[in-house]
Amino acid sequence: MSRRVTFGLKACVKCKRLVEEKEKVCPVCGSTSFSKEWSGMIIVYKPEESQLAKMLNITKPGRYAIKVI
Ligand SMILES: [Zn+2]
Repeated sequence: MSRRVTFGLKACVKCKRLVEEKEKVCPVCGSTSFSKEWSGMIIVYKPEESQLAKMLNITKPGRYAIKVI
């Protein structure tokens, strides 16, 4: 089994926002459910201009996981 590189980040299960592992609450949706099992990071600067952000329902700039398990 290979170790997943998570950059010390965990992903919000609800909105896929990536936050530091020490964070307790998601700054975007207020969820407290996080997963360390995620893959693919995207950084969104202008969600209103990004097709990918629209696809992933991202409305605020920041780092997001593409897939959260
Ligand atoms: Zn969230």
